[in-house]
Amino acid sequence: MGRETAGTTPVGPGRPYRYFDAQEGPGGSRDAQTCPLTPCPIDAPHGTLLTICQIQTPGGILSRTRTRTPVVPGWFAGEGDDFRLLGTRCSACASVFFPREDAFCRNPGCPGGELAEVPLSRKGRVWSYTDSRYRPPSPYVSDPELEWQSYALIAVELEFERIVVLGQAVPGVTVADLTVGMEMEVVPGVLNEDAETTWTTWHWRPTGVGA
Ligand SMILES: [Zn+2]
Repeated sequence: MGRETAGTTPVGPGRPYRYFDAQEGPGGSRDAQTCPLTPCPIDAPHGTLLTICQIQTPGGILSRTRTRTPVVPGWFAGEGDDFRLLGTRCSACASVFFPREDAFCRNPGCPGGELAEVPLSRKGRVWSYTDSRYRPPSPYVSDPELEWQSYALIAVELEFERIVVLGQAVPGVTVADLTVGMEMEVVPGVLNEDAETTWTTWHWRPTGVGA
């Protein structure tokens, strides 16, 4: 579910890298993140985390595709406009749970029903938000050699379920772009990447804004 696997091919001297390293690290001293070519051969926006790395060499274009894996299995599925958060709904009282509850209904007034997986609303409205200006301590995963990139964290009240779901804003959207009550939609996102894997998650994006 929601899991895609692609083949890999060696990338020679250029292991997967981030485009901003190609811009800011000419010379290639940092093996894992430094593009061997300046300028970068891929026309990607500055700061884009690349899922597919392609490097032009005298022998041709070398490329590598990482495996895309949900950071938490079963919490979301689909691609593009079909992307949805997945919760569960109780057959007895119709309570909806996210994160999904698969063991028993947590409504104290409910006699107990079957919990079935249900896709949640694509849209909702900003309930609250803040930003993350400092690098969290371990076990948060980040590269200490890279400058910390703050991101907006948004609590969105879902359109139909009326439950509030936290998530990061899409890259490029900051707290200055947000207001309480603004309509948002859930879109596929990337939490982080390592050498082999792109760990996927969900992001919130103001509706009507292109990808
Ligand atoms: Zn129930």
